[in-house]
Amino acid sequence: MRAAESSIVTTFQDLGVSAPILKALEAEGYTIPTPIQLQALPIVQKGRDLIGLAQTGTGKTAAFALPILDRLHKDRKHAGEKSCRTLVLAPTRELAAQIGDSFRTYGRFLGLSTTVVFGGASMHKQKQAMFRGVDILVATPGRLLDHVSQRSIRLDKVEILVLDEADHMLDMGFIHDLRRIATILPRQRQTLFFSATMPAAIEELAAQFLDSPEKVSVAPQSTTAERVQQAVIHVDQSKKQDLLHALLADKSVKRALVFARTKHGADRVAKKLESGGFNADAIHGNKSQGQRTRALDGFKKGQTRILVATEVAARGIDVDDISHVINYDLPNVPEQYVHRIGRTARAGAGGIAISFCAPDERAYLKDIERLTKQAVPVMETDMSLRAPRADERVQRPKGPAGRSSSPHPARKHAPKKHHASEAHGAAHAKQGHAPSRARDEGDRRDRKGNSVWSNNGPAPKYRKQTRKPLGAPR
Ligand code: AMP
Repeated sequence: MRAAESSIVTTFQDLGVSAPILKALEAEGYTIPTPIQLQALPIVQKGRDLIGLAQTGTGKTAAFALPILDRLHKDRKHAGEKSCRTLVLAPTRELAAQIGDSFRTYGRFLGLSTTVVFGGASMHKQKQAMFRGVDILVATPGRLLDHVSQRSIRLDKVEILVLDEADHMLDMGFIHDLRRIATILPRQRQTLFFSATMPAAIEELAAQFLDSPEKVSVAPQSTTAERVQQAVIHVDQSKKQDLLHALLADKSVKRALVFARTKHGADRVAKKLESGGFNADAIHGNKSQGQRTRALDGFKKGQTRILVATEVAARGIDVDDISHVINYDLPNVPEQYVHRIGRTARAGAGGIAISFCAPDERAYLKDIERLTKQAVPVMETDMSLRAPRADERVQRPKGPAGRSSSPHPARKHAPKKHHASEAHGAAHAKQGHAPSRARDEGDRRDRKGNSVWSNNGPAPKYRKQTRKPLGAPR
């Protein structure tokens, strides 16, 4: 977040950001634009389509929110009933809520309206919020389509579309929803597309949405956040909880985000912490929206010292003062490691990331080191196992995730189950339910890399998607 040392520093004012927004930025303590903001703002201001290769933590939200707010402010008009002028799509509820908060914060002196809609919350309240029309609508794709089919929102007046964390959207099986949304948006619009990675599937998706886009890129995905001090502790799986308690007993751990691979794992770890006298909570997709919001708020306000989270539930968590990220389980997709540890180096701060590595996770550690092109230093503790020698062969866990270091091994090797889960989501939505929490949450693989879907009984049968006709409102 630190600006490049330079005698001529570009400010938000230099970038043409209007006075009421500058006032809000000043109140937030933003003085210097981040690299993605420096690059993206002039392009968006020109009205061009944009592909932004940037991760959470780079300031990408403001990179699209500021020029959008500027444009809506300078060209004021009413969106129209059940309509929106800007549509922002995000993969998770937490990220959607956070984007909504950012728009409200940066635009607080503008009097523009922002509404956020996602699954797991009341449809009725969301309908009411959209009824008179909104300037900015932030939505998860499944819930947005539910509203479109119930005619509580129309998309034919959308002037600006933002797709945030496009790679996570694909990971979470939103591809069909996105394609469907693409068909009902007006062709004449500006589109801003953000993704941390750019595999072929994302390029294809981008081609479908964008028109001659300009491309900007910051911090390539394989660069581990430089300010994060990393360490790995080799430990037996059965000793991990004791090790966690020992680490957290240290008062220098001010605020810790602990990652577990599964929802049950997260719950187990949090419960044991609590019974060990620690101030801890858990956040994952089996929790209600209210519980998730409360857990996150408590963590943000410093009331909860330790938050145990699954990968997906933690996406978009934007808490500035996380002193430690602890990987209770190592992620089986190496990019997730980079993403997780980046949580502890927000807004210019440094941080510490400690990973527990059981013998059957050593292959994951190798994948991470290959991606980041650096060895994670080994930390010795009383509970440590002997660290493997550099030439020692690691045993690959069974399952697709362990066999490949490609960015999306699950998709590559298990297309059928993935497909079935999406179909289930569609069928579920058709029956008038909120999109399946599991789909929104995506905690798809257990520690051994097996698909969680297949463990929960037979995969749901594919049913043809038959939503109500889309289009003009009543
Ligand atoms: P994002 O990548 O959008 O999630 O932003 C990461 C964090 O950086 C958030 O906490 C923002 O509030 C903060 N941030 C964004 N832009 C700036 C800036 N120009 N100066 C300082 N902090 C910023």
